[in-house]
Amino acid sequence: MSLIVQKFGGTSVANLERISNVAKRVAKTFDEGHDVVVIVSAMSGVTDNLIKLANQITELPDKRELDVILATGEQVTAPLLAITLQNMNYSATSLLGFQAEILTDGAYGNARIVGISANKIKELLEKRNIVVVAGFQGWDSSGNITTLGRGGSDTSGVAIAAALKADVCEIYTDVDGIYTTDPNVCSKAKKINRISYEEILEMASLGAKVLQIRSVEIAKNFNVPVHVRTSFSEEEGTMVVNEEPEMERVVVTGVTYNKNEARITLKNVPDQPGIAAKILSPISDASIVVDMIIQNTKDSGETDFTFTVPKAEFKRAMDIENRVAKDISAKEVAGDTNISKISITGVGMRSHSGVAVKMFTTLAKENINILMISTSEIRISCVIDEKYTEKAVQLLHTAFGLDKQ
Ligand code: ADP
Ligand code: ASP
Ligand code: MG
Repeated sequence: MSLIVQKFGGTSVANLERISNVAKRVAKTFDEGHDVVVIVSAMSGVTDNLIKLANQITELPDKRELDVILATGEQVTAPLLAITLQNMNYSATSLLGFQAEILTDGAYGNARIVGISANKIKELLEKRNIVVVAGFQGWDSSGNITTLGRGGSDTSGVAIAAALKADVCEIYTDVDGIYTTDPNVCSKAKKINRISYEEILEMASLGAKVLQIRSVEIAKNFNVPVHVRTSFSEEEGTMVVNEEPEMERVVVTGVTYNKNEARITLKNVPDQPGIAAKILSPISDASIVVDMIIQNTKDSGETDFTFTVPKAEFKRAMDIENRVAKDISAKEVAGDTNISKISITGVGMRSHSGVAVKMFTTLAKENINILMISTSEIRISCVIDEKYTEKAVQLLHTAFGLDKQ
């Protein structure tokens, strides 16, 4: 007998018919003799609609209140699945984040799990209950409801699997595994049977939303075996595992894109010590996460300073920089929201040269201009004009030999 955690995403619980399918799959696993803990997302589209509703009142709703609203999406699907299972004569109990004792920090909208006391879940499992936990939500030490960031039910699933030392965490989604790139953007994307934690960590951080990045961090740190698969068939999906020697042979495993960033440039900034800190400190004080940074030196004693922030924070960041620009006597602040970051990833890059040049040449051949570049040991990213996103993904996928035969 194993302990199996099954997480179902929004499309898998989009309506009662699909919830009934999920219930059948859960029941089958339970009937095989396993203990089953299920984590559910909100029905697809519900979280977006809740955000839109709050935005009708104000563009910047209070983050604490917004989390109370957002948590309702999962509060509906968890009991709906429990009721469906009860109707099939199974003992099932739903738990909200606070009832499952998922303790987070107080960063509303993007809270981090700091601990899970799995007592309540264990108690129910001992009574042979199927436990259905509402994903995406927790509570902080002051008793406030928090949410874990978009796509956060993946993290709920993996964190609960880690806390319970589950044998596997199955992530059921609308594609049948992790692909070399988003199969909805590139029809030649290939399914990957086994991928390392490092590679999917990079892919997730670069925009492949198939797994939320924090879920991979937890899986890696606690060695949780993760199986990404579809709820629409019995097919095996992708196993996320520790790096295996043969993985190094493939130079590039994946191509990702991220359209959720915006670029801000401060022009003609005095080229002096301390300027970068002056530009970025107020951004960091506002809890805005900066991704890429570029600073050039010019002979004139002035320089341009460019960085990227999440699109959702663009307005706030521009307001801050317009104030900073006056303070440091910069000439102008320019913003651009029509950008996209295209990245290639692979652990094999560590031991192969010429990968970056091949990426730049491939883009250049099609006249796609590179606006910014950044690299890590196992990744190269280029910022380009958003309108070329799909084309660039497809070109790089072909250039690095990833197209399915
Ligand atoms: P869920 O609601 O089940 O959490 P998501 O929409 O969050 O599902 O994630 C699944 C989606 O991730 C897929 O529909 C696909 O478009 C996208 N995706 C992006 N990159 C990849 C990739 N490399 N492999 C598989 N899916 C990917
Ligand atoms: N419902 C949340 C979202 O749409 C969490 C999730 O689906 O994982 O982001
Ligand atoms: Mg998701």
